[in-house]
Amino acid sequence: MPATPDLAANPLTHWTGPLGLPDFSRIGDGDFSAVFDAALKAHEAEIEAIAGNADQPTIENTLAALELSGQPLDRVSSIFWCKAGADTNDTIQALERDVSPKMARHFSAISMNEKLFSRIDDLYRRRDTLGLDAETLRVLEKTWKGFVRSGAKLDAEGKTRLAAINEDLSSLGTTFGQNVLADERDWALFLDEADLAGVPDFLRSAMAEAAELRGRKGRYAVTLSRSIYEPFTTFSARRDLREAAWRAFTMRGENGGACDNTAVVRDMLALRAEKAKLLGYDSFAALMLDDTMAKTPKAVHDLLDPVWRKALEKAAADQAEMEKLAADAGSNDKFAAWDWRFWQEKLRAEKFAFDEAELKPYLQLDNVIAACFDVATRLFGVTFEEKKGVPAWHPDVRVFEVKNADGSERGTFLADYFARPSKRSGAWMSALQSGYRLGEGASPIIYNVMNFARPPAGEAALLSVDEAKTLFHEFGHALHGMLTDVTWPSVSGTSVSRDFVELPSQLYEHWLTVPAVLEKHALHVKTGKAMPKALLDKMLAARTFGAGFATTEFTASALVDMAYHARPDAPAEPLAFEAATLAALAMPDTIAMRHRTPHFGHVFSGDGYSAGYYSYMWSEVLDADAFSAFEEAGDAFDPALAKKLRDNIYAAGGSKDPEDLYRAFRGKMPTADAMMEKRGLA
Ligand SMILES: [Zn+2]
Repeated sequence: MPATPDLAANPLTHWTGPLGLPDFSRIGDGDFSAVFDAALKAHEAEIEAIAGNADQPTIENTLAALELSGQPLDRVSSIFWCKAGADTNDTIQALERDVSPKMARHFSAISMNEKLFSRIDDLYRRRDTLGLDAETLRVLEKTWKGFVRSGAKLDAEGKTRLAAINEDLSSLGTTFGQNVLADERDWALFLDEADLAGVPDFLRSAMAEAAELRGRKGRYAVTLSRSIYEPFTTFSARRDLREAAWRAFTMRGENGGACDNTAVVRDMLALRAEKAKLLGYDSFAALMLDDTMAKTPKAVHDLLDPVWRKALEKAAADQAEMEKLAADAGSNDKFAAWDWRFWQEKLRAEKFAFDEAELKPYLQLDNVIAACFDVATRLFGVTFEEKKGVPAWHPDVRVFEVKNADGSERGTFLADYFARPSKRSGAWMSALQSGYRLGEGASPIIYNVMNFARPPAGEAALLSVDEAKTLFHEFGHALHGMLTDVTWPSVSGTSVSRDFVELPSQLYEHWLTVPAVLEKHALHVKTGKAMPKALLDKMLAARTFGAGFATTEFTASALVDMAYHARPDAPAEPLAFEAATLAALAMPDTIAMRHRTPHFGHVFSGDGYSAGYYSYMWSEVLDADAFSAFEEAGDAFDPALAKKLRDNIYAAGGSKDPEDLYRAFRGKMPTADAMMEKRGLA
C-alpha cells in the first residue's frame, strides 16, 4: 500500500505554481487516485464535524463551514476534470469510470445526512429572524432547496434508492461521453490530392495536419471535429465524400459494438424518470426546470413552438432556392442532407458575392483573441498579459494574468485552443478555482478549451466566422467567472440557473461584429490590411443568412430533449422515440438535428443540460434584448451601460434572482421579438 498523501503538501491539493496555479510540472496521471481517496475522507470528516457540532446552528458554524469545506477535494477534482476533458488517455479514462460513481456516492451521502440537514433546516426556519443580508439569505434558501431536491426529506428506503440512481446515472454519463469520444477518434477518411475538389487552402492544410497527427503524412484526413467536418461538407465538390462524412457525423454513438450509446440512453432516461417520481415531480423536466427562469415545460414550449414554425417556413424557402440553384447548375440529384451546407454556401456566394473562405484570412486566431481582450478592456477595464513558460495541463495551453483597471489582481485566465485526439469535441469554459470573498477568499482561475484545427508549423491559425463567434462565446463565460464579485462560493461566477448562464456568453458574441472591433482586429494574414469595408458590409448583411437551417437544427434538438424528459415515464426505445418525435414535428429529412440522441453530450454526458438545451435560446431572448440596449444608446461601449452590465450580470453570479438582475440592467423583461429579428425570422 502506498502511503496516504499529505493533502497539505501534495501538488494536486496544495497549489504552488505561478499565479496561484497548481504546479503542473509535478503532477502525474498516477497521482490522482490516492489523493482523491484522501480528499474524500478529509471532506467526510469536515462534514461530520459540522453535522455533529453540539452548539446551536449559526450561519458561521453551519452554512459558512459547509461552503468552505472540501477544498482539497475541489482542487483535485478541478484538475482531474480538466484533464479528462482536454487531455485524456487510458489511465485518466479508467480513473474517470472509478471516480464518477464515488463522487456521486459521496455527495449523495452529504445531501442525505440527516443531522446536517436538520441544522440547515433549523437555520432556514429561523431565516427571517437572523438579520441576514440578501446574498446570505439567498444562499441559505438555495442550500435548503438543494437538500430537499436531493432527497433530504425521503425515508430511509427512498434515500438508498436515490443514492443508487445517482451513482448509476453518473457512471452512465461517463460511459456516454467516452463512447462518443471513441467514435470521433476512431473515424477518419483519408483522401489524396485528387479527392480535394472545391476544398479551400485553409481546410487543405488542416486536413493535412489531421492526417499527419494520425500517422498518415502526405495524405488528407476528414475527421469528425467540427472544425474539419463543417467546412468539408460546405466546400467539397465531391457529393459521395460529403455523404460519407455526414453519415459518420450523424451516426456517432450509434455504430453498434462496445461504444454504442443506445442502451446507455435508454437506461439513463428510465433512471431519470424514476428519480423525478421519487422526489415528487411529474417528470424529470419538471424537476430540472424547478430552479430555472423558465420554471415549467409549458414555458419552454411557449418559447420554442412559435420559433419552430418560423424556422420550418424559412428552411423550406431556403431549400427551394437551393434546389433551383442546383438544378440550374445541372445537378439531377434529389436534394439531401449532405447537400445543404454545400449549396447554402453557393447561395450565399451568389446573394452576397463573397464566400466564407474570403473572410478567413482576416480572422487570425491571435487577432481574434486580442479582439476578445480588447472588448473586455473597453467595456470593463480589465487587462490581460500573457505569461510564457508557465506549465499547465498541456504544452499548448496559454496562461494570462488578468488585472483590474487600477492594476490590482483580478485572476488568471488559461486557454487551450487546438484540437487533438486526446481532447473531447466542442468548446467550453470551466474554473480551476472560483472567485469569492468568504473565509480567506479566492481569486478566479478560469479556462477556455477550443477545438480549432492546428495550422501547419510556421503558419497562422485562421478561424471561420462561426469559430470566431465560439471564441467570443466561451470568453463571455470566462468573463462571467473572472469578473465575479460575490461573498459565497456557491453563487460565484457561472453558478446561476441554466437558462441564464448563456446570457453573458451569447451577449459577448455581439461585439465580434461591431464594425470598430473588426476594423481594428480583422487584418489580412498576408498583407496585414484591414478587412475592406465592402467585404465587412457584405459579411454584416449576410449575418442572418442560413437562419432557417441553424434554427431548425438547434430547435429540433431542444424539442427532442424536452420530449424525452417532459413525460412521466421513459421510452423503451429512445431512437424510435426520437424518430417519431421528429416525424410529428415535420422535421425536414434534409436537415439533421444539431445533436442526435446517441451523441447529445449536453443531455447525456451528465445531467448538465438535460431538459435544458432550450436554455441557449432562452438566454438568446435575453442577449438580443440586452445588446439592443447598446444599439439604442448608439455606442457599443457606452460606459454607463457597461457599468450596469458588469454590476448586474457579469459580476453578480447567482447572488440574486436572475429576473431581478436582468431588470436591474435593462429596466424590464424582454419579449422574443429582438431574438427573432436578430435571427432573421421576424
Ligand atoms: Zn455557452
